[in-house]
Amino acid sequence: MDQTLKQQVLGYILETGSDETLTRKLHELHTVKGAAVYQTFFKLLAGIDIPLETSEEQWDKALKHRLEMMQLMGRNIDMTTALSDYLQNATIFLNHPRLVEASYYENVLHETIHDKLTGLFNRPYFDEAYSQQISLAKRYYDDFAILFLDIDNFKDINDTYGHAAGDEALRQIGEIINQQKRDSDIAARYGGEEFVLLLTHTDNISGFIFAERLRLAVENLKIYYHDQCMKVTISGGIASFPFNSENPEQLLQMADNAVYFSKGAGKNRISHFKKEKRRYLRVKIHQPILAKELDFSNSETFSGTSKDICVGGILFENDAPLPLGALIKVKVPVSEGPPMILIGTVVRVESHENGQYDIGMTTSFKEMDKIANNEIGSILRSENLP
Ligand code: GH3
Ligand code: MG
Ligand code: MG
Repeated sequence: MDQTLKQQVLGYILETGSDETLTRKLHELHTVKGAAVYQTFFKLLAGIDIPLETSEEQWDKALKHRLEMMQLMGRNIDMTTALSDYLQNATIFLNHPRLVEASYYENVLHETIHDKLTGLFNRPYFDEAYSQQISLAKRYYDDFAILFLDIDNFKDINDTYGHAAGDEALRQIGEIINQQKRDSDIAARYGGEEFVLLLTHTDNISGFIFAERLRLAVENLKIYYHDQCMKVTISGGIASFPFNSENPEQLLQMADNAVYFSKGAGKNRISHFKKEKRRYLRVKIHQPILAKELDFSNSETFSGTSKDICVGGILFENDAPLPLGALIKVKVPVSEGPPMILIGTVVRVESHENGQYDIGMTTSFKEMDKIANNEIGSILRSENLP
């Protein structure tokens, strides 16, 4: 049976309000896809196979039968009742009457909303569940987190071990996700090697703890396929409702963007969505700052004066030179709140006649992100959280 057609017809059966609308929709679909529409309808609703050649005729007869029943009984008869009556009395198709066969119906429903390979939900189902969750969370002032996951270097897995082995990796990662998540969480395969989880009643921090556990479980997984053993890692991004956004599309986009922070920071890690808030911090240009070399453990702390600050970096005056290419951390006082920390690479050193040096540093968001994530990780570890 044509799976797309099956999903479409099932969608009509499940969604359509009245039998008249259902009839009209099926008729419209019939003009595009032919008699297979009615054949599929009979299969879904009554679990019977009607030959394609006669399915349109049977459909017309069933409709006529419904009208006759309504006239005879002087009231409305719903489609399912009329159909089962027609099939039982007027046709040879049903030796044993069976109205919608529950298990068959359930199977079809299962296939419609699940991804075959991983057994997780599919993207259309996720989208539906997500929009429901947004309404619920708004109504009950609840929070939830969105976690996007993307397998690292998955092309290499396919290239090295073959596509079937790649599929096995996907299946096993799906299994881990399913084992680790709570029953109330919704996990779906969102694209080829991308997964998404809707973590109910979860804020950014709890979401991070969960995501870290998942990331570690995947990192520790050994995937056997025939006589090969594969290792894979995943990168993740989190954004939460209502903390990051209350707008559904924007929230998904934020979690997805956070995956790119993780990829940019070296993969196999989880990142929160971060806005570049620093762009809006107020700092005076000429003010004392502190600079320290990061990968040089005995480095002294230099105190200089800032001359120019922007998101891209800082130019400051110092009474000592710093090595070109050094990774440094610069602390800049901010008019309100904690100081701003910038991490980046020294890209310019110029000496002046007064014995001072101009030091130019370009911000490295990759390094800042790595350090921020390590700090969150160590806070969580030191609090002995799971
Ligand atoms: P990155 O770490 O940047 O994510 O690198 P990547 O290689 O994973 O890159 P990308 O996410 O762009 O590539 C996804 C690859 O996943 C490409 C495609 O061949 C593979 N893929 C997508 N769906 C399937 C699938 O169902 N089965 C298998 N075996 N591979 C798939
Ligand atoms: Mg991808
Ligand atoms: Mg990938």
